Amino acid sequence: MTEKLFQIDPYLKQTEAQILSVEGDLLVLDRTIFAPEAGGQASDLGRIDEAEMLHAEEKDGVVYHKMSEIPSGFKPGKTVRLELDWETRFDHMQNHCGEHIISGILFTKYGIGNKGFHLGSEFSTLDADMKQMPQEMVDEVERLANKAVFSSIPVTVDMIDSKDEAQKLPLRKELKVDEDISIVSIPGIDCVACCCPHPSDTSQVGLIKIIKAENYKGMTRIYFKCGMRAFEDYKLKHDIITALNKKYSSEEHNLLDNIKIQDNKNNEIRRDLFAMKSKFAMMEAERLVAEADKYVHFEYDDQSLDDLKFMAKKIMEITELPVILSSTSCMTVLLTHSGKSKLKCGKIVKEFACGFGGKGGGSDSLAQALFNDVDIMRNFVKIALMSI
Ligand SMILES: [Zn+2]
Repeated sequence: MTEKLFQIDPYLKQTEAQILSVEGDLLVLDRTIFAPEAGGQASDLGRIDEAEMLHAEEKDGVVYHKMSEIPSGFKPGKTVRLELDWETRFDHMQNHCGEHIISGILFTKYGIGNKGFHLGSEFSTLDADMKQMPQEMVDEVERLANKAVFSSIPVTVDMIDSKDEAQKLPLRKELKVDEDISIVSIPGIDCVACCCPHPSDTSQVGLIKIIKAENYKGMTRIYFKCGMRAFEDYKLKHDIITALNKKYSSEEHNLLDNIKIQDNKNNEIRRDLFAMKSKFAMMEAERLVAEADKYVHFEYDDQSLDDLKFMAKKIMEITELPVILSSTSCMTVLLTHSGKSKLKCGKIVKEFACGFGGKGGGSDSLAQALFNDVDIMRNFVKIALMSI
């Protein structure tokens, strides 16, 4: 068994320990300050002498420390110095305890259990045993969670010898162990068996922000950030809002209204632009059709494929002749007709464009071919026109 100093003093950042065994890149010590990965929470990080401690894992009461390397002097009996990556640990403590607070409130106020927890590198999630959580309830849980933080409620850990003794407490979850049970209590909020390190009071959790709550396998998955993560999230969003306020000449209270006003203006401009584009395209279509004999053909130097399609559609409104439009800008040839022509557009592209180094395809009435050389594209157009 490894003595788990982090359960006695979660604020212990460095200490000495004795090596018990070295197994590959795994180190076993008589005692440790590194909390192993457990219950959806990542392992602590740190250093043991000059080597990095990458991951701690517990098996049958023994903590195995995975090392970046095993220094040559690391032998059983040697005393080594342990140094905890405190920033990572405190981040874990804040977000882990935040989960206790949210889960505790869900249980004590609403009778809803927690079916899972994961402390990720970006955000944490917990799965509340409720199919669809109304947004008002999410907001209320978040408000109460932050109120618990501002109340500086002590977080205590008690070792209880027996299951019978522990079961007298108002536990949130059923016990999985029979003896030496570590019970974490936040009076009025939570009481549950847990072996992870916790801050000494709720104020150290800092801000608790629920990012979103969504349906997940018949439960509600709550995404949240606590402490420095929540602060950084606030800063990011504040920066975004500040930039939007500048862009829309707004303040927070009228930003959404101003965005809506601008959206309406943009929609009006889009409608006007479309009407003008349609009018211009129809004039252009009438000109091309007037000059056409067996087909309508034109090469543009500034049109996109969407522009060619739009133009072709206008042309087909006033003629049944096949239409072949090309653009040196997008290096694409569009072949199409209303269905009255016998021209097989897709077949022409397949037979000739691919042979000319182009690529594309399509149906009998609509096909397109893309090229990477303008002369080759023009040669393909000549052949396509000859086949009409
Ligand atoms: Zn805990």
